[in-house]
Amino acid sequence: MTEKTAFVRDEVQALKDQGLYNTIRTIDGPQGAHLTVNGQKVLNFCSNNYLGLANDPRLIEAAIAALNRYGVGPGAVRTIAGTMTIHTELEEALARFKGVEATISFQSGFAANLAVIPALVGAGDVIISDELNHASIVDGVRLSKAARKIYPHNDVGVLRERLAEAREEGANQILVITDGVFSMDGDLAPLDRIVDAADDFDAMVMVDDAHGEGVVGRGGRGIVDHFGLHGRVDVEVGTMSKAFGAVGGYVAGSEELIEWLRQRGRPFLFSSAITPSDVAACVASVEILDSSTELVDRLWSNSAAFKAMMSDAGFDIGVSETPITPVMLGDEHLAREFSRKLLEEQSVFAQAIAFPTVARGKARIRVMISAAHSAEDLEMGAASFVAAGRELGVVT
Ligand SMILES: *Cc1c(COP(=O)(O)O)cnc(C)c1O
Repeated sequence: MTEKTAFVRDEVQALKDQGLYNTIRTIDGPQGAHLTVNGQKVLNFCSNNYLGLANDPRLIEAAIAALNRYGVGPGAVRTIAGTMTIHTELEEALARFKGVEATISFQSGFAANLAVIPALVGAGDVIISDELNHASIVDGVRLSKAARKIYPHNDVGVLRERLAEAREEGANQILVITDGVFSMDGDLAPLDRIVDAADDFDAMVMVDDAHGEGVVGRGGRGIVDHFGLHGRVDVEVGTMSKAFGAVGGYVAGSEELIEWLRQRGRPFLFSSAITPSDVAACVASVEILDSSTELVDRLWSNSAAFKAMMSDAGFDIGVSETPITPVMLGDEHLAREFSRKLLEEQSVFAQAIAFPTVARGKARIRVMISAAHSAEDLEMGAASFVAAGRELGVVT
């Protein structure tokens, strides 16, 4: 290491001292209900692989077929090297699934947010954003030259005040942005009331449905479908790295919006497309969701069963309306110790989440339920929480 970068050593040490250092576990093998973590077989409660598609043979087969037909790499950005038919196929399949005019794919959900926000608003415009929105929205907002206003989590009353202020200040365009499902608590944005408020002030609405896709709405069609708001939400952002089981992001909306993003979405113009094999896996996963609600139904019955066992055992599982199940513990050190005990003594992999990801004193273990879990997995998981929880005095 050169001496000029030596200061980062102190920064890393400071993270360790404050208990904020991320330990990254090494997984040997695919994502699924069980994992091998550092050589130990564990029950997996950590991944966003809601439907178990990350290792589905149908996705693997589609990816292999695309490798054979299109090769490995996309060559360059699509405006220069051209768009492969498989990318167009995915965008059309997603548009049908979401019930929108058009979609455009990006390398990730993160890239989709960085593309769409600065493309829509700039100097003279105002963005109004929920205080708990995802980091990629925060960064997309920063990349735009629009003024920003924050409203308290899901508080539509204050959102209306901010909208009124923005209009009084002479904003040109106003863009309201919210996550659809908030990933730390599993609660939903009141998107129906947000859209009503935005309509009253002629503001655009954007929802990031990363944790809602493949989960909420009919057959996992997302939060716009859940609230029956088709045609009333201007921008939907999605990811294919969670329920869809692969990788990649997209924006869904009107034909005009998508055409604009092909011209002015910077991650589209200046970063190469998703690889054809990943795109083919995404197409297969949209087809699976389109043809049957079986996986989505199983996800919901699994999460209802697990939540009931945890509530009956006396755990506080928060305010989730989705398969995200936060086990609320409060104290940061307690949450870390609980997670360590689960992994080392019960072979259950469930991550502690603490400040700054959530507020101080709101530490928790977040359990991510999947359609891939069997009834025995869920029973074993709940029993492990009870065993560790008794030793730590969390439940009796
Ligand atoms: C996970 C997530 C993203 C990022 O998606 P990637 O495809 O992993 O980049 C963006 N927004 C929200 C709300 C998310 O939860």
